[in-house]
Amino acid sequence: MDRQYDCLVVGCGFAGAVAARELAERAGKKVLVIEKRPHIGGGAYDFVNDDTVLVHRYGPHIFHTASGRVFEYLKRFTRFREYSHEVLADVHGRLIPVPFNLNSLEAAFGTQKGDRLKEKLVGAYGMGRRVAISELRGQTDGELRELYEYVYNNIFLYYTQKQWGLSPDEIDPSVTARVPVLIAHDNRYFQDPYQGMPLDGYTRLFENLLRHPNIDLRLNTDSGAVISLLGTQILFDGAPFSGIVVYTGAADEFFGYRFGRLHYRTLDFVFETYDRTWYQQKGTVNYTVDRDYTRITEFKHLTGQQIDGKTTIMKEYPREYTGSADETPYYPVAGEESGRLYEKYKDLAGKIDRFYLLGRLAEYKYYNMDAVVERALSLCDRILG
Ligand SMILES: Cc1cc2nc3c(=O)[nH]c(=O)nc-3n(C[C@H](O)[C@H](O)[C@H](O)COP(=O)(O)OP(=O)(O)OC[C@H]3O[C@@H](n4cnc5c(N)ncnc54)[C@H](O)[C@@H]3O)c2cc1C
Repeated sequence: MDRQYDCLVVGCGFAGAVAARELAERAGKKVLVIEKRPHIGGGAYDFVNDDTVLVHRYGPHIFHTASGRVFEYLKRFTRFREYSHEVLADVHGRLIPVPFNLNSLEAAFGTQKGDRLKEKLVGAYGMGRRVAISELRGQTDGELRELYEYVYNNIFLYYTQKQWGLSPDEIDPSVTARVPVLIAHDNRYFQDPYQGMPLDGYTRLFENLLRHPNIDLRLNTDSGAVISLLGTQILFDGAPFSGIVVYTGAADEFFGYRFGRLHYRTLDFVFETYDRTWYQQKGTVNYTVDRDYTRITEFKHLTGQQIDGKTTIMKEYPREYTGSADETPYYPVAGEESGRLYEKYKDLAGKIDRFYLLGRLAEYKYYNMDAVVERALSLCDRILG
């Protein structure tokens, strides 16, 4: 190898790409990004399929954040198209806006009862509030309690069971308690002040992030093939490496699963293209009372792409992650046991000089994209002082 690197970054999703850019740009470090997939972008990767539709390979990604710093930072690398995501729940063929809000009342109960419930909700809590359904359960009014039952049974229960592979009695009551009813005529899925979609797609955003003379990229390379550990010493291509290593893959994998495997859920994505302009009314329809898939997303709603007579949708089928080579860990499964196991890997990582775990997999937390960007920026603030 003819070039010395100051930093190795494993993984080229938001965590890795932002860290690489910061280390290269702010501190003039020479950075090598190592990515096992044949493409950049991590979970946010998008591409144009054979039917000319821009699709998200690993599930629909909608950008939203409350962080001005993150939004301004990303605006250096992409323009955003204005987009507020909307989701409908298919309840036995009836389409109900979620999160459940005042518009959902009419869709679920018809005009008369919907109006009555609206009056009761506004009377009890005031306009604009976000009420956890657990609060409705405690109401003396029978119709408000019925609303709780409706939302719990028709919007929340089966969807959550499918997503996490749980039986109803395994569902954590504290999660149920947080399911919201929004007392406003607001169908937006996210209420963050900054939301939108990268105008030319996520992959283009990543190309711009990585376009820097101090950044090299090696695709199709598992870090295990070039980085190893001898005690607490990192070896790169067999020789001791004393620079910075930012690792954004799964923590248990890096340490050879020595304490056991972390618990994840995975997803199978099924794409279908139809010879019609639109498939469904909104970006995402959640199947909350039936079907094996959790939701269907139609990408053109998200991307704003104008194509007549063709559209591509994606169905998501959740299942257990078993660790086989063709699976990707998508959702860390929170729990005391997983938490304890993860702490062991984190402690081990802490013993390695200038080695940092960063991002959704490495930190074993369900971070959204903006949170990962924020984590990467603040890690680099810390490293670079
Ligand atoms: C179905 C789904 C939908 C989502 N929707 C949204 C959304 O709408 N909005 C939102 O904000 N967030 C969403 N997210 C979350 C978003 O995907 C994550 O926040 C983001 O991808 C995390 O970035 P990351 O860099 O930490 O991880 P990743 O994007 O997973 O990147 C990690 C990269 O490291 C690579 N890697 C791992 N191990 C190794 C190794 N040993 N060697 C080399 N490379 C390795 C992987 O191949 C991967 O490319 C969604 C997640 C899922 C699963």
